[in-house]
Amino acid sequence: MKIGGLQKLTLIDYPGKVAATVFLVGCNFRCPYCHNPELVSPELVERQSQIKESDFFKFLDERIGFLDGVCITGGEPTIHSDLPKFIQNIKKRGFLVKLDTNGSNSEMLEDLIKDDLVDFIAMDIKTSILKYNKVRAKNKISQVQKSINIIKNSGKDYEFRITVVPGIVDEKDIEEIGKWLKGAKKIVLQQFRPKKTLNSSFKNIKPYSLQNLKKMVKILEPNVEVVELRI
Ligand code: SF4
Repeated sequence: MKIGGLQKLTLIDYPGKVAATVFLVGCNFRCPYCHNPELVSPELVERQSQIKESDFFKFLDERIGFLDGVCITGGEPTIHSDLPKFIQNIKKRGFLVKLDTNGSNSEMLEDLIKDDLVDFIAMDIKTSILKYNKVRAKNKISQVQKSINIIKNSGKDYEFRITVVPGIVDEKDIEEIGKWLKGAKKIVLQQFRPKKTLNSSFKNIKPYSLQNLKKMVKILEPNVEVVELRI
């Protein structure tokens, strides 16, 4: 497995759990606002040092009994065919697993759920269906759609996350997304942080105001059980 980073302790990445977060290298999307360009841009990936899988599992062995779970993020974890084996090795040590995904590999997602290899799924919804070309993922929309249905019917804990980036997501998109995800258990609206971005022009984009974000929450509420704002 290509491991680009490890956060040894997080109290926020896995809701309600004490966890570590492992960052896998590579992604099949190109969200211009991506804040992990070193895991996505091929030139930067080449320069990025990686953590040996054996060192990662040595670390986990030392944390048995101290951590509840492991968050697997990226990049996009499901582009790696060895992800199921990697998760098996985490779970056999007794850890819960939270998976972050862009929803582009519904077959793997379905298998991971069926084999009980994930306990919590956080799926990014980038924007409304017709604007998915903005993250260079237009041809993945049927996969994204399938993943949404799989997750909603999985019986697992989950959340759909929208990073609200001006120019990518506006109130009209939020309205569309609300209809698209109707009946979902939870949607999280995440504030955009223009500190480090894949496309450097996005560093100059001013995030939405709190007032705008609260309005978006209200737009989503009729279609979703819980809407959370992360700012
Ligand atoms: S934001 Fe996520 S899906 Fe988009 S390019 Fe970055 S890692 Fe990939």
